[in-house]
Amino acid sequence: MPSDQNSPNKKPTDSICLALSGGVGGAKLALGLNHLLAEQLHVMANTSDDFTHLGLNICPDLDTVMYTLATINNKELGWGLANESWQFMDALEQLNQPHWFRLGDRDLATHVTRTELLRQGNTLSQVTQQLSQALGIKSTLFPMTEQSVATFVRLENGSPLAFQEYFVKQQCEPKISGYYFQGIDAAGPSQGFLDSIQDSRLCSIILCPSNPFVSIEPILSVPGITAALTNHPAPVIAVSPIIAGQAVKGPTAKMMQELNMPLSALGVAEYYQKQHSGLLDGFIIDHKDHALKPQIEALGMSVLTANTMMNTLQDRVTLAEQCLSLAANLTHEHGLL
Ligand code: GDP
Repeated sequence: MPSDQNSPNKKPTDSICLALSGGVGGAKLALGLNHLLAEQLHVMANTSDDFTHLGLNICPDLDTVMYTLATINNKELGWGLANESWQFMDALEQLNQPHWFRLGDRDLATHVTRTELLRQGNTLSQVTQQLSQALGIKSTLFPMTEQSVATFVRLENGSPLAFQEYFVKQQCEPKISGYYFQGIDAAGPSQGFLDSIQDSRLCSIILCPSNPFVSIEPILSVPGITAALTNHPAPVIAVSPIIAGQAVKGPTAKMMQELNMPLSALGVAEYYQKQHSGLLDGFIIDHKDHALKPQIEALGMSVLTANTMMNTLQDRVTLAEQCLSLAANLTHEHGLL
């Protein structure tokens, strides 16, 4: 990261933070950041989980972040909307149609609206902006790309399996030997990303504690994104989704084992360093992983230990504060901005 770029007119009061997010883990931290920053927060979500189902354009990560920021997310299920009903699914089942991917009646309105707006020629960024504004979200939420990208996991025998089939239909049960993002080479950064990265007020970039392989990696794999983040003077900080050798939710830990990686926050830091050398300036690990600090620092990152288990809203806000404070310290120490 260059240290010779200066923006003397930058005021901390109008600084912007860009957060990269998958679904559940990312949305938790995004909510904490949203409490502190509101309009000054930009969230870029993974869209390689997106798929077309029953003729509808479904964007699971964008919707999880959007519903979470609007505080209308379903906390019991961990996905979808609160106060949901399921008459559409019941009727679908009666018609012998596929019902493995659950779409609540209220949630359906989002997918129908998105599908229609896309059909009318709007970009996914424009559609996301319309939906977020209608839900009263002050932060700017946008996809990683406007193009269609699709994650596939590779099974042990090498055959590909579409991500939602793996994640939802088969509940992450098959062992995997790898993953890839179909269409990624032809994709480009979304307009929202280009606007954020060119905004002189951008002061911190945070990789939320999302799945490093199938939530953050697709974003970083969009041609142009990693280079733009690495070359930007704002510090880039990641929060580990692994705490004391376990994932809080989802297949991250299982994937690390199957991919023969050390199952720890160190394994996550090593992964980012190997894939995207020089990208991360800071890494936040849980207090429980304090012993890993020297080894992660040896990778060339500043390490902060914190309570990274976000059970309550206060946990989310506190962790968000710590991310911003680490970014501010790095900026100050290294004269990055
Ligand atoms: P998905 O797309 O819905 O799977 O969601 P993400 O990729 O955003 O998040 C999945 C990751 O979030 C998992 O690796 C979890 O370990 C991590 N995660 C969930 N909740 C927390 C939390 O409270 N703290 C931390 N550090 N990680 C979390």
